[in-house]
Amino acid sequence: MENMRISGKEKSLWIFLIILLFLYSCSSDHSDHETRFENKTLRMDYLHTGDKETSSIRFLAWKEEPFWGGPRKNLIDDPLKGEFVVEVFDNSGDKLMYSKGFGTLFSEWQSTDEALNSTETFYESIVIPFPKQQVLIRLSRRDKKQQFHVLFETSFDPLSMALEKTQPNNYPVQKVLDSGDPSTHIDLVFLPEGYTQDEMEKFRQDVEKFKNAMFSWSPYDEYKHRFNIWIVEAPSQESGTDIPQDGIWKNTILNSSFNTFNIERYLTTLDYKSVRDLASCAPYDQIFIIVNSDKYGGSGIYNFYTIFTADNEVSEFLLMHEFGHGFVALADEYYSSDVAYSDFFDLTVEPYQENITTLIDFGKKWQDMLAPDTPVPTPDDPVYYDTVGVFEGAGYQAKGIYRPYHNCTMKSRSINNFCPVCKRAIRRTIEGSTD
Ligand SMILES: [Zn+2]
Repeated sequence: MENMRISGKEKSLWIFLIILLFLYSCSSDHSDHETRFENKTLRMDYLHTGDKETSSIRFLAWKEEPFWGGPRKNLIDDPLKGEFVVEVFDNSGDKLMYSKGFGTLFSEWQSTDEALNSTETFYESIVIPFPKQQVLIRLSRRDKKQQFHVLFETSFDPLSMALEKTQPNNYPVQKVLDSGDPSTHIDLVFLPEGYTQDEMEKFRQDVEKFKNAMFSWSPYDEYKHRFNIWIVEAPSQESGTDIPQDGIWKNTILNSSFNTFNIERYLTTLDYKSVRDLASCAPYDQIFIIVNSDKYGGSGIYNFYTIFTADNEVSEFLLMHEFGHGFVALADEYYSSDVAYSDFFDLTVEPYQENITTLIDFGKKWQDMLAPDTPVPTPDDPVYYDTVGVFEGAGYQAKGIYRPYHNCTMKSRSINNFCPVCKRAIRRTIEGSTD
């Protein structure tokens, strides 16, 4: 006992250290951002080239953008979703300061048969909070075994690098849903594609329509107060978008097009530079592109963009389904389609998407949501239509991949119909982004 005795002087030193430690742990989240990053964005533009099996990065330019719409707390992405990740380390490479998972159109293309016999190059861009000191930036890619491999690494020194400042052009910007500070809210920026100057009022009305739709859906209806919505009123020369199979070509600000990868309804834009330039007019976490067309189509790529048409009879479904990909990295729960993907998932590992499983590591997925008497796999029988189960067929594959519910907005055209597992994933994403 004698050895355990602490003198009064030592005791006060210990109390002092404990208080210091406590104060540090309370403040570290915020001070992490404030001591390491400025309240603006560093953007790295690059070309991503490859064929079915290979990919390489060619650096193009550093850019400085005036706003940072992302978080200032929770700078490390966890759980890490998406096929790619950007990581920012201190100069020694030891301390991870920021990370974010994302997807790209390039990797979607790699999963098509066209990639078997050809090479393509895509313009890409990543954004990170602007570092105050020299940092190491690393881009890595997840393989089909879910292991990450470094694709590209470079250092950035804010004092010595040549920087292009993207001057937000003079397009009017409006905050049409104002819930508060961008650093503690999820900022959605809506970009108009194929709206002429005379159609800007229609664009504003379309955003209003989709804003009301989004927050009428469960579980988004519980979280409206955690979102901001910005619009950038940037007109196109012509109305509509390209529909190559019909010989329709339009001069539009973001150069979007149907028939991407020869899939009729696959609406994308390859002009990611213009997308980032326009989005930089506002603080943002997520980019929406509303295309002024009534044709059925869209796409959503995780932390990349969500694009959909404004005037189709199921546009509301398109918005919410594609945003499921773009914001939450949800997988498609359908398995018979004209989507030209082949061998999309490796059945010997558990994919990262929260709403599908290979049953390899089901405990990480929605096993905790199953009633004890629900059979695994679950027969696709009306008895189980309103039950969380394990239904075979999802992720473009009829066999070996399972979805949680008979039907869901991630499976088929349906309104306000996310299954319980997708709803949980959406809640986790919102709560994880706005702590
Ligand atoms: Zn679902």
